[in-house]
Amino acid sequence: MSDAILEVKHLAISFGGIKAVQDVSFEIKKGEILGLIGPNGCGKSTTVNLITNTCKLDKGEVIYDGKLIPVSVGITERAKMGITRTFQTPKPFGNLNVYDNIFSIALQNRTYAEARQKTEEILERMELTPLAYMLSSKLPIEKRKWMDMARLLTLDPKIIMMDEVMGGLNPSEMESSLQMVRKLNSEGISILFIEHVMKAVASLCHRVVVMNEGRVLCEGVPQEVLKRQDVIEAYLGGAANGKHAKG
Ligand code: ADP
Ligand code: MG
Repeated sequence: MSDAILEVKHLAISFGGIKAVQDVSFEIKKGEILGLIGPNGCGKSTTVNLITNTCKLDKGEVIYDGKLIPVSVGITERAKMGITRTFQTPKPFGNLNVYDNIFSIALQNRTYAEARQKTEEILERMELTPLAYMLSSKLPIEKRKWMDMARLLTLDPKIIMMDEVMGGLNPSEMESSLQMVRKLNSEGISILFIEHVMKAVASLCHRVVVMNEGRVLCEGVPQEVLKRQDVIEAYLGGAANGKHAKG
């Protein structure tokens, strides 16, 4: 029995002439926080899109808890199976309060009473109870990101793929967000953590996969990977040829 919750094998997709992801393979182990890093434009978000089937694979396989997911299984079904993701820019229902943002999703496969109970439990878990009746568009960015995670918890996810959730946070917000991610992980959720802030990656991730130009450059524990010359050069190369525009 494999200890991987998710394995991707030889993922590939091109957009026109651009090979955005080429032959990407890695695994997320059960209970792991796996970092996915690399310069902007190297294919991290596209890899997540291939795992959720927002983008159709040209080639490759996504294996979840030991079983191949057929390509016909779409993003909603994958989310219901437990494979979830946040977006670089959270997309809440801005005209709803925090409670209703969570409740409206919790209600999808529950009775009213069950959805209410689930929402209250998640609000507590995500430390959002004091903000439950605030309009979500008025939330500070840190809490908006937590609400985004809270909405995913209605699905009882096995995996959350977090795409640059630390972006725009000040150091103390980042510290509390890292604590929150650790807490979710300690509750048994495996995490794919995409991030540019290396301090956050080093302190949080059990292992790291580094991508460059659509491919996996290397993988290993953060303390070793982050000091590799080829990893440093990939980041500097990305900056030198203008790839550090917001990706
Ligand atoms: P990252 O998240 O690592 O910054 P992305 O995965 O967003 O990088 O992008 C990888 C490459 O694929 C980029 O060159 C980007 O412009 C391109 N790309 C991503 N999605 C699309 C799309 N839907 N159509 C065309 N090109 C895309
Ligand atoms: Mg991205």
